[in-house]
Amino acid sequence: MFKITVAGTGYVGLVAGVCFAEVGHQVTCVDIDENKVDLMKSGISPIYEAGLEELMQKNYAEGRINYTTDYQSAYRDADAIFIGVGTPEQPDGSANLSYIATVARQIAESLEKDCLVVVKSTVPIGTNDKVEQFIRDFLVNDVNVEVASNPEFLAQGSAVHNTLHAERIIIGTESKWAQEMLTQIYEPFNLPIVSVNRRSAEMIKYASNDFLALKISYMNDIANLCELVGADIQDVARGMSFDDRIGSKFLNAGIGYGGSCFPKDTKALEYIARQQGYELKTVKAAIEVNKEQKTILYKKASKRLITFNGLKVAVLGLTFKPGTDDLREAASLENIPLLLEQGADVYAYDPVGAENFAKAYPDGKNRKGSITYVNDIEKALEGANVCFIFTEWGEVKALSPLIYKNLMRTPLVYDGRNIYNVAQMQEAGVEYHSVGRKPAS
Ligand code: NAD
Repeated sequence: MFKITVAGTGYVGLVAGVCFAEVGHQVTCVDIDENKVDLMKSGISPIYEAGLEELMQKNYAEGRINYTTDYQSAYRDADAIFIGVGTPEQPDGSANLSYIATVARQIAESLEKDCLVVVKSTVPIGTNDKVEQFIRDFLVNDVNVEVASNPEFLAQGSAVHNTLHAERIIIGTESKWAQEMLTQIYEPFNLPIVSVNRRSAEMIKYASNDFLALKISYMNDIANLCELVGADIQDVARGMSFDDRIGSKFLNAGIGYGGSCFPKDTKALEYIARQQGYELKTVKAAIEVNKEQKTILYKKASKRLITFNGLKVAVLGLTFKPGTDDLREAASLENIPLLLEQGADVYAYDPVGAENFAKAYPDGKNRKGSITYVNDIEKALEGANVCFIFTEWGEVKALSPLIYKNLMRTPLVYDGRNIYNVAQMQEAGVEYHSVGRKPAS
């Protein structure tokens, strides 16, 4: 078993740390955010992920995991340090590597024995080479350091399960020593390991995420065309899904992808290509389609209604997808400001995302309209003139079409996730607009 330190306790770092402890490694998680560290020490997860808190408490009680802001003592004698800090998008689309650089510097100044540094964060191709050189340049003690790439593929909402039962572990190394050590670290997980060089590992991450983003944008593009030519995207997707070469996942049309990965990783790869003088046409198209798609229902509703001014607008779902409290690049963040600027009184329901939305959008109350967060869906729908569905939470999917008919002043629903059957909405007397399907009126 290894002494592992994880830098950054976000969705990637914390889940990795907890799962390493769960399989028996001795883990220290480092974060610069003292509040987060205090929360984690008291057994509370700073992020919402199914099963995470239970595993944190169990492994903390059994002495296999600890949390600290004292990076020096955590890095000093680690066998391996996994870096899981953010690499957010910059205005030009490139990845911001300043958090990675800070950790690299801190590692260089702390190490007192040989160490394998593993970059889990999503980074541009060639970054691992630079991180290795950077650490070696700043080393204070005479120790050997190597850097390996080990990109993360978890999906938020099922991060713990995805980590313990990953479909593959990608290991990118430049030496036998690094490859063997990483393989040993992952041995207890008993998962398929794909071993490649560092640059290929970095590219596998971008190529995989961007492929999924392309798949979503392709289905959304086809959905928009379905509406124009009278086809039904769900029937089309079902028909396509029987083909093994296409597969049955990621064929749902809707109001586009969000989250912390697809938007930034598509832009980052497009930027990397541009730097090389290459135009990555397919990925560019995926980005463009997604941008348009985010507000497609808002635009439809704007045409249908004279104004949103003074209307009660129910919003069901704020997070970028169900099962997470993450709002990064969520459709709600684009649409709600538009509604408020138009003078709408928004009543927003989300089982876990309201607090983060209020933080991300603190000036909501200063707009022409107003925003009220409600804990139960019925309060959002009661007397509403129009309803937008942005996230397919189970609680929303479970609502019967009659609830809309009975509670709303005018049962007018714009569903960005295609969760209801059009015929059933029609039967219930709900005017229902979705993506790539004919409306019910
Ligand atoms: P996050 O923003 O949730 O977490 C990053 C954490 O790093 C924060 O808690 C922050 O306080 C901490 N941090 C910043 N500087 C630090 C330092 N010097 N020392 C220690 N901690 C520091 O990020 P995330 O969503 O976990 O993503 C991390 C990386 O993993 C990104 O590159 C992302 O693209 C990639 N990734 C994310 C996902 C995902 O679903 N979120 C999936 C796969 C890959």
